[in-house]
Amino acid sequence: MAETIQSRLKRVKDRITEAALACGRDPKTIKLIAVSKTVPADRILAAIGAGVTDLGENYVQEAREKIEALGRETVSWHFIGHLQTNKAKYVVRLFDLIHSVDSLKLAKELDKRARAVGKVQKVLVQVNISGEATKSGIETEQAVALVRQMALLDNLAICGLMTMPPYFNSPEKVRPYFKALKDLGNRVRTEAIANVDMAELSMGMTGDFEAAIQEGATLVRIGTAIFGHRGAATSR
Ligand SMILES: *Cc1c(COP(=O)(O)O)cnc(C)c1O
Repeated sequence: MAETIQSRLKRVKDRITEAALACGRDPKTIKLIAVSKTVPADRILAAIGAGVTDLGENYVQEAREKIEALGRETVSWHFIGHLQTNKAKYVVRLFDLIHSVDSLKLAKELDKRARAVGKVQKVLVQVNISGEATKSGIETEQAVALVRQMALLDNLAICGLMTMPPYFNSPEKVRPYFKALKDLGNRVRTEAIANVDMAELSMGMTGDFEAAIQEGATLVRIGTAIFGHRGAATSR
């Protein structure tokens, strides 16, 4: 029998603990989000059984079906994909934390939808830290201004920052982007904007989460290392 979700999850958790201890951090300050896009509900259930408490999804429709099937009592759901304004009402109903807010227009729509259902929606501001044209996220130079404007929206709670760095096959090449996100978080913190909490840094994936932890990640988003490779033949 090949590796199970359980054994892969244990390995990932061990690596998180090792990376944290190696840089003098308390492993408890790092939350593992198991990224379950394209993974069917029965395999997610196996992951929950093995101890996963937080799940990350990228596509609203796909997530809605899974969340309805699996519920929200035992796990928290994170929206980590690109978000269109016209999907705001669904994500507010479905997700505990939205990682991908990158415009005032989207923030205002989320705020409005959250108010309509009597919720204060937790969000992160996604930053395009590399400045690549193809990447989602607010430009670094505009991030503080966006946070300032979002802070005025009563039904949003800003909890921190998220980034998706460029793809490299070496974590060391990604590290400067993680560092830059941490620096930006610190810069926002020194502004002491009311209603803004910069506690969370959502960064680090299968290929680079150890470097992200060394640079201060509090939320790591890991798919492949837990569920195996996505795509055609999704094996068990
Ligand atoms: C898919 C995805 C991940 C997980 O990537 P892996 O390399 O499979 O760990 C993390 N964050 C975002 C935004 C993603 O879309």
